[in-house]
Amino acid sequence: SSQGEGDTSQIMVTDTTPNGDESIDDPDDSALGTALHQIDRAAQHVDVDEGVLELMKNPTRVVEVTVPVERDDGSIETFTGYRAQHDDVRGPYKGGIRYHPEVTAEEAVGLSMWMTWKCAVMDLPFGGAKGGVVVDPNDLSRKENERLTRRFTEELRDVIGPTIDIAAPDMGTGPQTMAWMMDAFSMQQGETIPGVVTGKPPIVGGSVGREEAPGHSVAIITREFIDYQDRDLKDTTVAVQGYGSVGANAARALDKWGADVVAVSDVKGTVYNPEGLDTQTIPSYDEQPNAVTTYEEGEILDADELLELDVDVLIPAAIGGVLTEDNADDIQADIIVEGANGPTTSGADEIFAERDIPLVPDILANAGGVTVSYFEWLQDINRRKWDLERVNEELEEFMLSAWNDVREIYEERELTWREAAYVLALERVGEAKAYRGLWP
Ligand code: GLU
Repeated sequence: SSQGEGDTSQIMVTDTTPNGDESIDDPDDSALGTALHQIDRAAQHVDVDEGVLELMKNPTRVVEVTVPVERDDGSIETFTGYRAQHDDVRGPYKGGIRYHPEVTAEEAVGLSMWMTWKCAVMDLPFGGAKGGVVVDPNDLSRKENERLTRRFTEELRDVIGPTIDIAAPDMGTGPQTMAWMMDAFSMQQGETIPGVVTGKPPIVGGSVGREEAPGHSVAIITREFIDYQDRDLKDTTVAVQGYGSVGANAARALDKWGADVVAVSDVKGTVYNPEGLDTQTIPSYDEQPNAVTTYEEGEILDADELLELDVDVLIPAAIGGVLTEDNADDIQADIIVEGANGPTTSGADEIFAERDIPLVPDILANAGGVTVSYFEWLQDINRRKWDLERVNEELEEFMLSAWNDVREIYEERELTWREAAYVLALERVGEAKAYRGLWP
């Protein structure tokens, strides 16, 4: 573990970290810049020790590892991987692993902070982490991906474990990746340890309902929000950016519950039909990558045009940083529900607040993913399977409980929805820190 700790100062971007609040006036739009700015914003409304708030702007540690991989042609290629562990005061570090060419240490840190808040909002006994490898998984064969995943897991072995830091899928990874991680870790430990990662295929200790869960929770929160505004889901039009695990499952659940999903998009384009789309027959990324525009019952628009459609609910469920100062004034939706992690920059957040467009934040809306990860972890530890009915019932219960907690703060203090969720998270983490104190 000396590997990671020793390197931390080199990995952190020091000019966007603490000491001074320049991030408040001029936040940068990276994940870390946005995450730090959000802490500063919320800090103005919480009763948490200032030193603790300062501490929360820094991860406990960032591990950087070198991942050599033998390519299928016999050559050796070197990749770089990271694991950022932000905070574990409420339980083991928890968060996904991302395979993407733009992964950086700073991005992993920003995303790890969001995991801390997400787990705190949901009141799960977990802290926050995030990791990734700088790689385009489309450039890897299945065998190369497996070798990369196994070696990456081996390099992280000292800092992960079912009671230490529990990984999960994120962009570019999935159930197969988690099965390889679990196997690589277990082989070294000499016993099968399913609880080291979540999001596994159910046959090797995964949970039913886990893959659908982030999108499912986006749909639950959208439904509650529509109800909160005394509107009817059946009269609600929805546009979903991104048709991967989050977007497709959110769109399909909302469609099933009676909403009109009128537009969905992927990197290739948008399919739009004001009468509503048949979300089941549009291929999700898992079913056929980037094939949304092969759907014939609608008008094909550019990918970016989706964001500016005149709909009731806009769900950005693709990548981070898509709603910015440049397009925030052109958004016509009445409500925004964040499916992706960090789709909204701080500048856009402010514009939406000025324009009175409510925005339900990622750390609440897509938190069904880590919530069912928690259920998976419980099943692994107890060697006991839950059926889909139980998973979905408990997910519903956890989502409603978090929604009510955030809503109470929203109603009591005049805040945005994001600030209300942050206040809840910061107070829970702050209170835990106050009780535990510092050691040594
Ligand atoms: N990567 C997902 C997220 O951002 C899931 C994390 C987890 O299940 O640990 O919430």
